[in-house]
Amino acid sequence: MRHKTPLLLALLAGTTAYFGLHWPGARDARGDSRDGSTARAAPAAASPDSGRARSSQMLRTAHYAITSTATRAQTAQVAAAVEHLHDAYSAFFRDAIPPNAGATGLQLVLYRDRAEFQSRSRSSPWAEAYYLQPVCHAYYADGANPYHWMLHEATHQLNRELAGFPRAVWIDEGLASYFGASRIENGVLKPGTIDVGAYPIWWLPELALSGDLQDDLRKGRILSLHEIITSRRGDIGRSVNPHYIGYWSLTHFLFEYRDGHYAAAYRQLIARGGSLDDFERLIGPVERVQGEWYAYLQQRIGEVRAGR
Ligand SMILES: [Zn+2]
Repeated sequence: MRHKTPLLLALLAGTTAYFGLHWPGARDARGDSRDGSTARAAPAAASPDSGRARSSQMLRTAHYAITSTATRAQTAQVAAAVEHLHDAYSAFFRDAIPPNAGATGLQLVLYRDRAEFQSRSRSSPWAEAYYLQPVCHAYYADGANPYHWMLHEATHQLNRELAGFPRAVWIDEGLASYFGASRIENGVLKPGTIDVGAYPIWWLPELALSGDLQDDLRKGRILSLHEIITSRRGDIGRSVNPHYIGYWSLTHFLFEYRDGHYAAAYRQLIARGGSLDDFERLIGPVERVQGEWYAYLQQRIGEVRAGR
């Protein structure tokens, strides 16, 4: 699809100020519209003048070119966050990123609020942000973590444009949720830490699991591992939060369970594309692993509820 240029031009049409250097010229539009759509936010109040056009600004950092209608301070905050992500991701996947792969000028569009994002979104109605290669689109969010939507999409971008991982929905969304919900502490994004101000973590306290896995599956409180691993992008809209909680928790489990018991095997699985057959060969039988993952998810829910 070649629909991004009009969007970018529309944003740039009212440009009166730039941060740093001038927009270098949009790359050719490529990719598909189903990349990396994120999910449900808690409803946010629109600012009173959300409907009005506002001029965009440009900020260039070491790795990113950010077109923004947010304030200068907000844009700088998001810019710092994505650079922290870039550092953390590059270190985390040091051995998986191809030699000489170095992405600069990664393109982000930051909207000042949810209303402006939604008025311009080209993604699913439930999406709160999206990555349409090569551009991430997200808004500056209300709340304690205003950049988590952008971190999520920027992870999709790094999966594709830096690491070049094969496309497997559960892994792509799992990694985006894993990094997107990690905390930034003293200028360092710490993969695997859990920020309760990020999606989908803020829904965990609402997830009332019974302790009976089969009952929770029957009642649709969670998806089975089989459903998560074999899910396709078109499935997500039918139950957005269960899908994202499944994606996040499975990736978190595979990296963190028992101090990384499955982490090396999961890295192989990421590189191979994440099929169900490879999951069972590299990690173990889905039925057995599902029991471990379910207990792990219950523990994480308990921690988030306890504010830890
Ligand atoms: Zn996503």
